[in-house]
Amino acid sequence: MGSDIWIYYYNRFGRRPAEFNEDRLVIMNRVVLVTGGSSGIGKAITSAFAESGDTVVINFSSSPGKAEVLLNDLSKKNRSVFLERADVSDYTQVKKMMNNIMEKHGRIDVLVNNAGIVRDGFLLLMPEKDWKDVIDINLTGVFHCAKAVSEVMISRRSGVIINISSLSGITGLPGQVNYSAAKGGVIAFTRALSKELAAFGIRVNAVAPGVIDTELVDSLSEKVKAGFLDNIPLKRFGRPEEVAAVVKFLASEEASYITGETICASGGLH
Ligand code: NDP
Repeated sequence: MGSDIWIYYYNRFGRRPAEFNEDRLVIMNRVVLVTGGSSGIGKAITSAFAESGDTVVINFSSSPGKAEVLLNDLSKKNRSVFLERADVSDYTQVKKMMNNIMEKHGRIDVLVNNAGIVRDGFLLLMPEKDWKDVIDINLTGVFHCAKAVSEVMISRRSGVIINISSLSGITGLPGQVNYSAAKGGVIAFTRALSKELAAFGIRVNAVAPGVIDTELVDSLSEKVKAGFLDNIPLKRFGRPEEVAAVVKFLASEEASYITGETICASGGLH
């Protein structure tokens, strides 16, 4: 019980109580929050952290059924998996989600900003709503979650934020001006925030996947998919697990000197 109180103190205030005894410190697993963590790449990321025994919070927005199924599945191996519903484009909901996590777990060590949508279309035909929805979720959602979590991480002087961008945000893709703008914004946001938070021991990085085999890619036309395959040097789409592996690396101690970077996982497309 004594050591539990010390751990609580350590986690809550980010420093040692006067009577701190190193021998009695129990190293606790990380608390990891993955936005849009119930399908596609997000599902692979939550599964990878859950399999390592971390406490994992799966955020979802409009698909509670999918989130419940994943929770049931992961809970067979790791009982520290939880769900939090919040629309990342709404700061009030994001703040409430962070408060819930803090009340239950006392800290957040890793935030993976993965939630994202596509609303493809050429500029001249793109309704304002498709522009706005993509920017609100893919870019402003990252701002909301990073803002709410950095308050928690700064007080503990540690943390890792990983933002899922896209190759589209580096090269730009026709029919994706909204998506390219949002994902390019995420890369610039990552660079700027890494400089703001480095002094507090917080690392901020991004991953830019190429074409990964998920429902999001299923929604593209066969013609677009064939065009991609033609140009990918590895001649296949990526697997969600291959993106999750890069995320896990960036969250690990092995990446302790990496911040402000964007790592591509694109089969050589970039
Ligand atoms: P999916 O469509 O499979 O998953 C998207 C996830 O985002 C869902 O779990 C969804 O949850 C969640 N989401 C959507 N809107 C919101 C919201 N407002 N608030 C909270 N969560 C939300 O996509 P992918 O797995 O393919 O993509 C994951 C990320 O990777 C995205 O950021 C995407 O842009 C990026 N990416 C994907 C690539 C690919 O080839 N698949 C390539 C490059 C980048 P719910 O259904 O509950 O709303």
